[in-house]
Amino acid sequence: MSGSAAGERLIIITAPSGSGKSTLVRYLLREMPSLAFSVSACTRKPRVGEVDGESYYFISVHAFKEHIAHNDFAEYEMVYEGKYYGTLNSELTRIWNNQQYPLVDIDVKGALRLKSKFGNNALSLFLKAPSMAELERRLRGRGTETEESLRERLNKAEEELSYSDRFDACIINDEIEVACEEAHKRILKFLTD
Ligand code: ADP
Ligand code: 5GP
Repeated sequence: MSGSAAGERLIIITAPSGSGKSTLVRYLLREMPSLAFSVSACTRKPRVGEVDGESYYFISVHAFKEHIAHNDFAEYEMVYEGKYYGTLNSELTRIWNNQQYPLVDIDVKGALRLKSKFGNNALSLFLKAPSMAELERRLRGRGTETEESLRERLNKAEEELSYSDRFDACIINDEIEVACEEAHKRILKFLTD
């Protein structure tokens, strides 16, 4: 797929890990039935409670590389050491065919790639925790990371924050309700303009 046909719009949510992307995405999917979550392919192991085909398509590195070879991805990244994540063209098409807009929750580099591919047909929102200290507090509070993966995510966050001005909007997630409301308004405007 080299670009997007008129009308094939999508919403990209990006942020350093722990900034509140998943929380925002859950809110938007509840409030906006015209959006559908774009299920990415990834090579990490499922966490407790994650369902294959709902959270991600959990696939092997071999299968992921086959998809790369067949040009099946709209974008993909090795987000963490040895762990690949990617947006399948077939997933975007599935959602458009269902008369909905894909809501894509991806890392910062993947988001830049998708935005440059889809241009004005994509709305890219960068979500930001109020500070690095608060980001660390939230990641620890979530309880999903080992000390090592926490460090990796925080180191990556420093670099990712430097890209925040390259998106259509940067939303500060201090109070979650306020951040959700702002994202909701921006998406409504984008889809009705
Ligand atoms: P991400 O998907 O970006 O990694 P999450 O949505 O999992 O982030 O949020 C990380 C943690 O921070 C979760 O435990 C979530 O409940 C919490 N959180 C999200 N937004 C806020 C907020 N505005 N204030 C306090 N805690 C928050
Ligand atoms: P997690 O392992 O915590 O589920 O996700 C790690 C990171 O990978 C998050 O920042 C998430 O947004 C990102 N991610 C999820 N799916 C994709 C994808 O398809 N492409 C890219 N580039 N990043 C993704």
